Amino acid sequence: MAFDIKLMEILACPVCKGKLDYNKAQQELICKFDKLAYAIDKDIPVLLESEARHLSVDDVVPNNKQAD
Ligand SMILES: [Zn+2]
Repeated sequence: MAFDIKLMEILACPVCKGKLDYNKAQQELICKFDKLAYAIDKDIPVLLESEARHLSVDDVVPNNKQAD
């Protein structure tokens, strides 16, 4: 069973309490504000700042820089 996208509506970043984005390819939950990526381990989001991966700007902004 895959991660339930409906969970996105109730999950929030533990740092800023903001909304998270689901990165399906990487199986991570992204906080653009804090530039943190929270792993999803066995369909369970690991919403711990200490466990989160720090993103670079390129990670936060996908390859659509040409688009307006
Ligand atoms: Zn955040």
